[in-house]
Amino acid sequence: MNWRGLRFRIAFGLAGVLAVLFAILGGGLYLSRSRVLLGDTDVALKGRADWIEGIARGPAEAGDFSSFQEEMKEHTDLGREGRVVQILSESGRVLFRSENLAGASLPFTQTELAGLRPCQWAIRTVSLAGEGRLRLITQNGREKEGEGAAYFVQVAMPLDQVEANLRRLLRTLAGAIPLGAFLIGAGGWFLVGRTLKPVGDIVRSARLIRVDDLKRRLEIPKTGDEIEELSRILNSMLGELELNFERMRRFIADAAHEIRTPLGILLGETDVALQADRQSEEYRSILESNRKEVARLAGLVERLLFLSHMDAGQWRWEMRPVSLRPLLSDLAEKAGLLANDKDLRVILEADQEAVIRGDEMRLRQLLLNLVDNAVKHSRPGGRIILSLSRRDGQAVLGVEDEGAGIRPEDLPRIFDRFYRADKARERSRGGYGLGLSISQAIAQAHRGRIEVRSKVGEGSLFALWLPLP
Ligand code: ADP
Repeated sequence: MNWRGLRFRIAFGLAGVLAVLFAILGGGLYLSRSRVLLGDTDVALKGRADWIEGIARGPAEAGDFSSFQEEMKEHTDLGREGRVVQILSESGRVLFRSENLAGASLPFTQTELAGLRPCQWAIRTVSLAGEGRLRLITQNGREKEGEGAAYFVQVAMPLDQVEANLRRLLRTLAGAIPLGAFLIGAGGWFLVGRTLKPVGDIVRSARLIRVDDLKRRLEIPKTGDEIEELSRILNSMLGELELNFERMRRFIADAAHEIRTPLGILLGETDVALQADRQSEEYRSILESNRKEVARLAGLVERLLFLSHMDAGQWRWEMRPVSLRPLLSDLAEKAGLLANDKDLRVILEADQEAVIRGDEMRLRQLLLNLVDNAVKHSRPGGRIILSLSRRDGQAVLGVEDEGAGIRPEDLPRIFDRFYRADKARERSRGGYGLGLSISQAIAQAHRGRIEVRSKVGEGSLFALWLPLP
């Protein structure tokens, strides 16, 4: 795992997301601050306009503004910004213009003036050469329609203070946002690094694990979090892998061993036959023996192929409804034939019918394995009981014998591949030690299981449980 990449991506992503968030918040702050500052300016501007309007009423009625500049100076303690004043007649003629305007005019339009009813005012921002941006109020000085003097007062206030204020805020934000994002990114980098350290350790110890040495395990960090859980899961996965690997290795070794024995016999007998001229009777007997070994090899290869297909999950099952009663009675007949030599009695106990979904041919193979084993291990004169019943929503098929039984220490291993309780004897009887493992695999493919009960000297009962639909 490229944890450095992960670390960088998390820290960088965090910083990026926060930078965007800060920028949005900063933008909001800037907007609201500029609105507040402009609002304050407007309130002050309106106060001044009212005040100028008051002292201008007299001159406006008299139509004489000659001494208004002095009057304003006398009455006002307003600073420079309060004295940018222009007074207009109703028709828009300039009646008075304060000195500090130095001949320049505060902007207005006839439509603007016409739109202002008595006592109404309008505020906007204007740019004036030499003065920069100004906030300008234009207010109608008339108190009532058709009464008193008609004049408009215009007062302007430079916005330089407000703008300087906002510039300062912008500078602060422009410095603080990247710095904040950087610090958070650095913090994230550090924290992610610390959090991912155990992952780095896992990666290092995982590198040491090889297919030929699956005994190694990851060190489990005592972090009490997902990483600890992950390493535990990986370790149990390794355990599982080791077990399966070992099982597979043993299976291949056993299979090779099983193939070697008949091949050795074939080779040996052929060599003996070739050493001298022989009677045709002798050739026939050697060929018959060779045929037996070839047949054994063919049977073994067929079973191995079946198992390997099943292991790979590639076996094509032909699932159809299967009636178990006719299947079992058919097997009972076959068992009868097999049992003849040993003078065995085959008993069928199947009163009820049970229909399941399954692969009839494979189920027949499974049961035939069990019957074949029962016959092989029975004592002469004994009974073989084939039964069918329904229990707990399942069909139970029993194959019981009164034979030698299975020793308790062999019992857990009889389903292992190539396991035979008595290797030499079973082999001479034609067994491969694969019958029960194949049977078990078929049962599992039908979502069923095989249970065994056995007592040495008394016999064994193999029960196949299959779920009913
Ligand atoms: P095989 O094909 O050699 O018979 P199986 O896988 O069918 O091998 O059986 C594995 C071993 O289980 C046998 O070698 C035998 O020792 C034991 N076994 C199976 N069925 C019975 C039985 N009915 N009675 C006693 N032992 C049995």
